[in-house]
Order: sequence, then C-alpha cells, then structure tokens
Amino acid sequence: MKSKKLASTLRVLGWMGFYLLLSAPAFFMASADNNNSFVVRNARVFDGRNVLDQSDVWVENGKIKAVGRALKVPSSVKAIEASGDTLLPGLIDSHTHAWGDALKEAEIFGVTTELDMFTDAKYMQQVKKDQAEGKDLDMADLRSAGTLATAPGGHGTEYGMKIPTLSSPAEAQAWVDARIAEGSDYIKIVVDDASAYGSHRPTLDKETLKALVDAAHKRGKIAVVHIGTQSDAREVIEAGADGLAHLFADSAPEADFAHMVAAHHAFVIPTLDVLESVSGQASGESLTTDSRLAPYLTPDDSANLKRSFPKFSTAPSEKYAEETVAQLKAAHVAILAGTDAPNPGTSHGVSIHRELELLVRSGLTPQEALASATSVPASVFHLGDRGVITSGKRADLLLVKGDPTTDIRATRDIVSVWKLGVEDDRATYRASIEKAKQEAVQAAQAPPPSSEMSLISDFEDASPKAKFGTGWMFSTDSIAGGKSSGEMKIVDGGANSSKHGLDISGMIDGGLPYAWSGVMFSPGSQPFVPVNLSSKKSISFFAKGDGQTYRVLFFTASGGRIPSQQTFATTSEWKQFNIPFSAFNGTDGHDLSAILFVGGPTAGKFDFQIDDVKLE
Ligand SMILES: [Zn+2]
Repeated sequence: MKSKKLASTLRVLGWMGFYLLLSAPAFFMASADNNNSFVVRNARVFDGRNVLDQSDVWVENGKIKAVGRALKVPSSVKAIEASGDTLLPGLIDSHTHAWGDALKEAEIFGVTTELDMFTDAKYMQQVKKDQAEGKDLDMADLRSAGTLATAPGGHGTEYGMKIPTLSSPAEAQAWVDARIAEGSDYIKIVVDDASAYGSHRPTLDKETLKALVDAAHKRGKIAVVHIGTQSDAREVIEAGADGLAHLFADSAPEADFAHMVAAHHAFVIPTLDVLESVSGQASGESLTTDSRLAPYLTPDDSANLKRSFPKFSTAPSEKYAEETVAQLKAAHVAILAGTDAPNPGTSHGVSIHRELELLVRSGLTPQEALASATSVPASVFHLGDRGVITSGKRADLLLVKGDPTTDIRATRDIVSVWKLGVEDDRATYRASIEKAKQEAVQAAQAPPPSSEMSLISDFEDASPKAKFGTGWMFSTDSIAGGKSSGEMKIVDGGANSSKHGLDISGMIDGGLPYAWSGVMFSPGSQPFVPVNLSSKKSISFFAKGDGQTYRVLFFTASGGRIPSQQTFATTSEWKQFNIPFSAFNGTDGHDLSAILFVGGPTAGKFDFQIDDVKLE
C-alpha cells in the first residue's frame, strides 16, 4: 500500500535477530514424530466449499486419506473426538510480506499457506529450499512474488532493499524472466503514483505495465497488481492483469466496476484489513483484546496491531472498499482473503481472522468468506494440493471450536493446526510468549547503575570488559539468517596516547538489506535488560578506521526490537564523537537496553576501532 508502509516492518525484519537474543519465542521444531496419521471424528467439516455435518477426516502420512461419516479406521490410528468443533482447510492468506518469524506466527493462527507479495529473493529461496527438504513444518508454506516490478523511485524502492526497477516496455520480458529464474511463483507489479494519499511518486507507465503482464503470461505466470486508485484498478484490469493485490479506498465503486472486472475474469484480494488502517483506524486493535488470540501475540505484534497509518489529506475510506466487495460478490468475481501483514494494524496469521470478519461485514456469507481463504485462492493460484478437504490433498488443517460457517469469529477459537498432518505445538509457543512477557516485566525493575558511573570502557586492562553492565560481545546478522562475519580484538595504541583500544573488523555480506556485524554492550546485568540512564545526556567515544562510515545503535525497551541509529565517519586518526541521547529517536535514556557499534549494511570488508566509550 502506501509509501512508508513497509519501512518499519523492514526494520523489524532487520532487527529480528536482536529480538531473538531477548526472548526467542518459537524457536522450537514441530514434532516430527510419526503422529501425522490420525482421524478427526464427528466434526462439522467445511471442505473449502460446503459444510458436511458429523463427518470424519482420516489423515495418513501428511495427506487426507478419506472423508466421510463413520469411517472404518484401524484402531491403531489415533482418534480425535471433535463433535461441536469445525474442521477447515488450513487458511491461505493471499497478500503478505514474509520474513523473520512471519511464517511461524502465521501457522500458530491457522494460516498454513502465505502468498507473499514482495520479499527479499534470498529469503524466499532459503524458505523454499527448506520446505522442499521437508523442514519448516511449524511454518506456513510460502509462495512468493519475490521482488516486485516498479519504476525507478516507485513504490517498493523506499525500504532500503536494492531492487531491480524498470522504465520501458522493452525491459519487461528480461525482468520477468529474471524473477522466474530467482524462483518467483507469480509476478507482482506496482501501479501507484501515490495520488490516492495526496502525494506523488513515479510509477510504471501503461505500456510498461502491459508489457509486464504480457511477459508474465508468456511464461505461464499470474500477474498481480498493486494499485492506488480506482482509475489505476480499471487501467490494470484492462491491461490484462489477472488480479488486484488490493482494492482502492479513494472513491466509491463506479456502477460498472465489478462488471468490468468480471468481464476480464480477474480476481481481487481486497485487503480490507490494511485499508482500514490506511483510513486511520488500527484494524487489528480488537484482536489484541480477544482472549482466544491475545496469549499468542508477542508484545511487538500487539503493538503493530494497534497502529494505523497517519491521516492522509485525501481521506481514503475502507468503506469504499467494502462497497466494492459487495459489488464484486454480486458480479461473481473471485474474492481472496489477504491481510497485507505486517503493515500497520496487521500481523501475520492473526489478521486473517479480522479480514474474514471484514469480508462478512461487506456482505459475504461466512461460508463465502471461508472459501475466500481456502478453496478460492487455491484455485486462482493453481495450488491443486490444498484449500479443500478431500482425499489426496495435503493435510493442512484447522480445527476450531464452534461454527465459523455461521459465526465467522469462531475461526479464532483454535483447537489445533496441522501442516502436512503434523500438529503445530501451540502450547509451547504460548508458554514461550508468556515467559518473554514475564521477563520483560522483571527486566523493567532492574536497578540502575549508580549515577556517577560514566565510563563504559577504556580497554586499558587489555580486555573488552566494561565498568558496568555486560562486557562487549560480538553480534552479527547470522542470528537473523545473514552471513556477515567479524571479530573484535584489543589492539595497542588507544586514543589520547592510551595503551589500548578495541578493534572491530570483518566482512559484511550483501545478502541482507539490513546486514550488520560489530560489538554490543548492554548496561544491565544481562543482555538487553533495560536500565534507567536518564541522568546521562549523551554518549561520547573515540573512533578511527578505514575511512568508512559506521553506525551506533541504541535499543530501548520502549522502542522494542527496532533500534535507532546515528552514523560516524572514520579516518586514520582518532577522533572524538559526542552524540546526545535525544538524537536516538528522542530517547532520554530511561530504558536503554543495548548500545552497538557496527559496520554495514553496505557489503564489503570493514575495520574500525573505538576507545574511551562514556556516557556523559
Ligand atoms: Zn503489500
């Protein structure tokens, strides 16, 4: 959607690794023992299209073996009594941006397939490799567009990831072929000049759009298009796009809009969820207080669900999109449930439950809404092995209490989630979240160091120790899947003719847009325990190096896993730097939890030294 929408989430991605240091929920494996054969007895079964009462579903070796009443199943097969409950195909979220823990979180909330609409190609490749090897059973299955198609400076280029753009129709086929070579499952295109939000941004022209759509079709790939306005939507459908990745919120649908879409046999992923947040209302807020969901939400997820986009001068309204959904339904257009997680107001997995609710509010029946998250996307995206409960399909399943075919909110009352017949360990996940929350409370009570403490390290004892808090520790993006490396060592010849300084050197791998490698100090008794340092006003240090620019990162408890940063340029001579706390996103230091000196994200070798690190 809107320009800054992914900026913060990409930063979340970037600092996921740090977050894992903190509390690390969800780093457990789904139990891969042989219990992926079982029979669910007497459930109400929504098979992706219809409701079957009092039915059994027999799963064997990760697939659905049989569906029917009173199935004859060997007594050795584990039976799960489910009368009163409803069994559904695992949900498919048709518009997400996946990275970090996204796919794990998705599965916890019953989403067993995510159709990603723009992520880092390397991430996509790694996940697909793991999936092909039968790993990641505790993570939603990923299909991805990889990199999106946009104009130079267009939407999608603002997140810090270097992506290949294009500016003429002649480049379209090579661009599409490069995506296919990277492993993209479909092609995502952006047509949005930001006018819907009272702004301006370059976008692809009609001819390039058309050439991209044609190029995708030439290779048998679906072309999905992000649009900003109703007139964009019309233009891309007329250009032959297969579907819209969003609806528009700039205007009420023109009377013939849905008929035009239907005449072109296009599908629509409305993403009402994110459009509600675009309209200034945090779409996910109600999810954070739902006792069926809240215990599975990390503090960061909850915080994001409570966010919305800033108010735009153009006052976009999600109500227009709801009107359009009603019109599309009447015209029998395929409607797919998608959240656009993790944009403001959304979070992976959990937000599909809100999207279903909004689709029903727009006029879909609960069964139609459920189909929009199961059989419809499976059919539209040619996922022939899922989205329905019939024999031979993947045993990606969701069991909930109650009857979501009449009360859509019942999808939230999750009993079990299975991927390929392996049950997700939601209890362990929930316990890990609970533990992390308790630790955060305890950490907030840690006593501050005495106010006289000023020097962190001068390294004169020839060690990377600190006068308080933890000593200096090495930190790289390897904990977030990166390949950057490095080391720290005490070297002779510190600042001001002192004996020693700390040298930090290594190699930044360009594989991640947020790559880092460097050293970390935490002022508390343990890494990331926040400490009240509001009696200090600035950080002072000496640095020298290879001439490159380096970064100081501040983590605060209130800032969560997203650090704020300041840069400093090195020369071959020691130079003193003094940076006020306030430069770090306005903090007063009252909940400072870590300070890092790092290289990156630019790829390549780096080498710098620090000395006399003080708080003043
Ligand atoms: Zn999106």
